[in-house]
Amino acid sequence: MNKKLRDEKREAAGVSKVVVGSQVWLEDPEVAWIDGEVSEIHDQDIKVQLSTGKQIVTNTNSVHAKDPEFPETGVDDMTKLAYLHEPGVLQNLKCRYDHDEIYTYTGNILIAVNPFKRLPHLYDKDVMAKYKGAALADLSPHPYAIAHAAYRHSLSLHTHAQMVNQEISQSILVSGESGAGKTESTKNLMQYLAFMGGRPSSEGRRSVEQQVLESNPVLEAFGNAKTVRNNNSSRFGKFVEIQFNEKARISGAAIRTYLLERSRVCQVSDPERNYHCFYMLCAAPPEESEKYKVGNPRKFHYLNQSSFYELNGVDESKEYLATKKAMDVVGISSDEQDAIFRVVAAILHLGNIEFTKGSEPDSSQPKDDQSRFHLETAAELFMCDKTALEDSFCTRVIVTRGESIKKCLDPAAAAVSRDAFAKIVYSTLFDWLVSKINNTIGQDSDSKFFIGVLDIYGFESFKTNSFEQFCINLTNEKLQQHFNQHVFKMEQEEYRKEEIDWSYIEFEDNQDILDLIEKKPGGILALLDEACMFPRSTHETFAEKLYQTFKDHKRFNKPKLAKTDFTVCHYAGDVTYQSEFFLDKNKDYVVAEHQALLNASKCSFVSKLFPAISEESKSSKFSSLGSKFKQQLQSLLETLSHTEPHYVRCIKPNNLLKPDIFENQNILQQLRCGGVMEAIRISCTGFPTRKPFSEFVERFKIIAPDAVKKSNDEIKSSVMLLEKAKIKGYQIGKTKIFLRVGQMAELDACRTEI
Ligand code: ATP
Ligand code: MG
Repeated sequence: MNKKLRDEKREAAGVSKVVVGSQVWLEDPEVAWIDGEVSEIHDQDIKVQLSTGKQIVTNTNSVHAKDPEFPETGVDDMTKLAYLHEPGVLQNLKCRYDHDEIYTYTGNILIAVNPFKRLPHLYDKDVMAKYKGAALADLSPHPYAIAHAAYRHSLSLHTHAQMVNQEISQSILVSGESGAGKTESTKNLMQYLAFMGGRPSSEGRRSVEQQVLESNPVLEAFGNAKTVRNNNSSRFGKFVEIQFNEKARISGAAIRTYLLERSRVCQVSDPERNYHCFYMLCAAPPEESEKYKVGNPRKFHYLNQSSFYELNGVDESKEYLATKKAMDVVGISSDEQDAIFRVVAAILHLGNIEFTKGSEPDSSQPKDDQSRFHLETAAELFMCDKTALEDSFCTRVIVTRGESIKKCLDPAAAAVSRDAFAKIVYSTLFDWLVSKINNTIGQDSDSKFFIGVLDIYGFESFKTNSFEQFCINLTNEKLQQHFNQHVFKMEQEEYRKEEIDWSYIEFEDNQDILDLIEKKPGGILALLDEACMFPRSTHETFAEKLYQTFKDHKRFNKPKLAKTDFTVCHYAGDVTYQSEFFLDKNKDYVVAEHQALLNASKCSFVSKLFPAISEESKSSKFSSLGSKFKQQLQSLLETLSHTEPHYVRCIKPNNLLKPDIFENQNILQQLRCGGVMEAIRISCTGFPTRKPFSEFVERFKIIAPDAVKKSNDEIKSSVMLLEKAKIKGYQIGKTKIFLRVGQMAELDACRTEI
């Protein structure tokens, strides 16, 4: 860690004055923080009696003050902590988690720790009704409270906005690592919004809010999968914009999705699975599975690369029917459903086509009768020509100088072509689902305001990191910047309300990382696009170019001994990327033959999925996934910038996905990555400790009991106490005392010495 960061960390941790008898926290490599009491002090050295029984001699600089009056059940808002530092935050979360209190605020941010067990009493209709009726200040931390605040804010600003014509929309940004509970929280938020903004169900017709809610199971069937980290992991990002009319009723919605993981369609490994829909289809009632020629999932290459087929407690045949029901609700007709599952089945059959050498040199053909059978079945299901389908895998037409030449592909290249085909069909199908749902629900172009809910992948850093992680981490850099700016603004707002002086303090900005990645020209994405367009580029030449260009960039490193890896120093930590598949994964195009073949399908659904391509787009050979994603992000942030944001930070307490296990180090890391510690740090640069006058006097009257007894003015008493303790630089607000980092510890030390 560099010195500046270390200093900041210390500052945020509130390194503070200690005396004999002070309660302190000590850093510990295993459990992060361990508590104890100071028993001796010799200059800088102090002896601490740990709560574990051990004694340790350490330096005054390495301990942090512990609140001797920490309430047994914790506090529902971190800003109520006497010491706003890492160990305090952690102690509070843990103590609440032990009581099944999984939600806690840090100011306006809701921290949600995944319980990994059902807590039904937290989520029923009665609870919603309670939140609906309560005054804002009485609400305990909950996603409903956040949704409530968003709904209320848009309304209260609404009247105001009509006068000044200001934006009034709200957004709720849910983040966290895989398995932390983003999608579950998002569903709770949407349920509450539907509850608040729904109307008595109109006869016969499905209500908009019902359709919005039912879009979840449909998108989950096609976009979620079991991964190492989560049995129901969303493999796409999602922004749902719920629109409200002038009566504050839900009147429309728009769903935007981001970057579905395509590689999963063709490639899975233990203990993961492919997308849920494949297994559901295999478990469909007999007449349907016969029609689609599916059945045992173990027979299909795209599924049997992993030995995991079942999910605990999930009956796939029931899921199949439930998904179809949800599809009904969002307006997908039974003909369309038939076509969709036909396409899903066809993809499974595609995967079973193997290739072997053909009669001509470097050519290929289906390997055997089995492969020919699957090719035939896939063609039948796609309703396209069998020979043309085979040709589209085994040959490629190359157009040079107006002349087209047919080139044979060898078996390996044919298999690559087959997988590319499967991936593009699947991701196009997914996009179709999203746009169909959007069409059914309908957008309200006259809506008065909207509440957007963002459920998007958190920061990722694995053993190997590829293009997907790169895009995901770019997303998080952008959201982090947005978050920092907002937290900073809110802090200033609080000071303004309390009418206290506060000079502007700089905070660490990540603009330099964003420039490194997305600057045009010259950023990593731009260099990647260049590499993709230049026929002779390889990932080696790409990596070399990066090394040369960013040699001196402080956010970019070439790892020692690396030939093609590169490291980006993200706000949440360093991530080393393997550049091997960056070029391939960035290329986003449908092979012209694949497109033409599917366009000629006798099934109108399939042919519409792949409209005929114009001559013009045929010639533009390359379109870049990275650039497309960057644009999508830009537009998302543009939308967000016109809204008032609310944040939900989801935390995964352990990697075993089990209840009642709270791993300190793991959680701290997530609090850092999710910007919670940064929010706290920003707050620590000002006046992090705020105490209402009465509480302050109550806690410290022992410092000057007589003086306090005589006065009946809380503000005067507070000032007297502060002067007695020789505290300088504090601020007196309208309702609270504002203290600088460390001043609470000085006051507590003063109290202990008396
Ligand atoms: P990913 O990024 O992989 O999509 P995620 O953050 O969306 O992950 P979820 O799918 O929401 O994670 O949650 C993972 C699992 O954790 C859920 O399937 C559920 O079992 C459990 N879980 C999450 N939140 C809750 C909750 N509030 N109550 C009970 N269980 C929960
Ligand atoms: Mg999810």
